Amino acid sequence: SRVLSFPSNSLILLCGAPGCGKSTFARRHFAPTEIVSSDDCRRRVCDNVYNMKVHRETFSLVRHIARLRMSLGRLTVIDATALRRGMRRSMMRLAGDYGFRTGVIVLDVRLSTCLSRNKSRKRKVSEDVIRSFYILLHKAKTDVYKEGFDRIYVLGEEDVDQAIVTINR
Ligand code: ATP
Ligand code: MG
Repeated sequence: SRVLSFPSNSLILLCGAPGCGKSTFARRHFAPTEIVSSDDCRRRVCDNVYNMKVHRETFSLVRHIARLRMSLGRLTVIDATALRRGMRRSMMRLAGDYGFRTGVIVLDVRLSTCLSRNKSRKRKVSEDVIRSFYILLHKAKTDVYKEGFDRIYVLGEEDVDQAIVTINR
C-alpha cells in the first residue's frame, strides 16, 4: 500500500483523464463536503453536465467554493481533470492567497482502462474527448514536479486501489 499524506490546510487536485476514476477515488478517501467537483458545478450553473460552453461559469463556481472553504481553513479537494497547466496554476495561486499547502494526486491509469470504464458507466464522455485529454496526461505527470506543489503523488493503475490517504489534522 502507498500512503498519501497531506496537512489539513491543503488544496488537493486530482489529475487524470475522464473515466480514470477521480470521482470514485475522491468519494473513497474524502468527505463529500470536502470535494469540489467541476461536474457538480457545471450541473449547478446550467443543468447539463455535458454543456462544454459554460467552462468559465463552471470554474468560477469551483474557485468560489474553494476560496470560501480555504478562508475557513477547510481541506479542499478539486475533482476536475486538472490536465491543463493553466488550471493547475490558477488553483495554486488561489491556495497561496489563503496560505494553503498544495497537493496533487495524478491517476496514471491506462487509456484502455479509461475507455472501458467510461463505456460501463452512466455518464459517458466521447472517446475522442478521452483520447485528447489522455494525450495531456503524459506531460502533466512530469510537469507537476516543476510546478511547486508541496505534495505530489503519481499513482500507477496498480497503486490506485492500494492507496491510503492520511490527513494530519
Ligand atoms: P470524469 O473525469 O469523466 O468525471 P472520473 O475520473 O471521475 O471521470 P469515475 O467516474 O470515478 O471517473 O469512474 C469511471 C468509472 O470507472 C465508474 O463507473 C467507476 O465505477 C469505475 N471505476 C473508477 N475507479 C475504479 C477502480 N479503481 N476500479 C474499478 N473501477 C473503477
Ligand atoms: Mg468524475
